Amino acid sequence: MFYPSFDNFSLFKTASFQALKKLHEIESEKLLKYGYGLTQKALAPTSFERQNVELVLQVINNVVAEGLNLVGAENNILHHKDTADYIKIIHRWWSVMNVKTKYKGDHKLDDFQKPLMKEFESDPKYKFLIDFGQWLKRWEKMDSNTGCLTKQTHLAISHTTEAMPALAKYCFDTLNFDYFLPGKIQTDPLEDRFGSYRRLGGTNYNVSIRQIYEGEEKMRIQIILPLALKSSNYRKLTLSFFNTKNWEDSENECKDNLLNTFSINPGDVIAAHDSLPLLTYISGYAAHNLLKKIKCIQCKFTLLIEKELDFNIHNEWISKLDRGGLKYPHPDVVCISQFTFAIVDKLFSSKYEEEFLKCKDHRCLVTAITLDVLDENDIYLGMEECENHNSMYLMKKIVWVIINILLNNFCKKQNDSILKKKLDKKENSKI
Ligand SMILES: [Zn+2]
Repeated sequence: MFYPSFDNFSLFKTASFQALKKLHEIESEKLLKYGYGLTQKALAPTSFERQNVELVLQVINNVVAEGLNLVGAENNILHHKDTADYIKIIHRWWSVMNVKTKYKGDHKLDDFQKPLMKEFESDPKYKFLIDFGQWLKRWEKMDSNTGCLTKQTHLAISHTTEAMPALAKYCFDTLNFDYFLPGKIQTDPLEDRFGSYRRLGGTNYNVSIRQIYEGEEKMRIQIILPLALKSSNYRKLTLSFFNTKNWEDSENECKDNLLNTFSINPGDVIAAHDSLPLLTYISGYAAHNLLKKIKCIQCKFTLLIEKELDFNIHNEWISKLDRGGLKYPHPDVVCISQFTFAIVDKLFSSKYEEEFLKCKDHRCLVTAITLDVLDENDIYLGMEECENHNSMYLMKKIVWVIINILLNNFCKKQNDSILKKKLDKKENSKI
């Protein structure tokens, strides 16, 4: 994309999809990524998948933009800064336009996700929409054949951008609204309905009028006669008749093998140093998550720090994404995360991976291993006085959350590489 700079319309910038691909490629082998959420599917969508909003949002995403800035600068990715800026502009527009509830902005601590209010002149969202409209006009004047929006897209987005404030003004002045939610003005329910027609018509994209009538009929019947099981009849149903005995035997063998052979050395933990900013970020998340559950003021001082008090270089990534609500973890928590990461990373190395994947209930297994290793290495939380919780309890919970994140990331990584292989195969066969 060749687009005018948002601050200075006479300046032109280049946003490149290739930069995102490069970011993804650089991080493809890692368990923790700066370009969080970006998947192979979003980077190489089929023509149907291009309409999938979820995939688009993996690309148009502030975390990815910040990640691109950081990893791009380190690895000299071409156009990384301009691409990140482009993503941020579109993302902001998307945020303003997709407010469907009154308190979304308060919840997300983002002024741009609050509803449009009556006091138009002082509203930064209103100013943004006007600027965005101007920006689109400037872009259109560029009159280039490549690297810009298609005529249809351009018309649709300018139309929406200009219509929304006008519609809001009408709602305030004539209909006496108190606030206006732009996210409500859209065709999603209609598309949803058509989605149902298509499914009922045998997952057929182009449905006939007859199929629509039939679909309507089926949907009405479904509402009148819901498909439901009466739970009172099935309450006593247990799963014990599945024979899991054999499973467990072979699994125990793997587990014992693994527990006997697995070891971790200081080098593994030091190697995890590279991922520290990300580990700090997820440590903050884990600590926050835990505190939300136990609601304990004493433990808060064990798990979190005030960001002003102890500003550590690894907190930099948190502060980049922080709009005021993110938590800064205590160094002890980060240390635990670092060990956990090193262990999970090692379990997925060629030496242990096969054995590990054979086991069942990986989360429990890794938690057990991790707690053992932490104990061996004398790592614990420096506890503040608390009557209700001890260090072991808190550590267990933290380790559990972090393992959850890492294993989840591993699955995503595997899915991604399978898809990549498929795509490569397709490419090769074309040649
Ligand atoms: Zn406590």
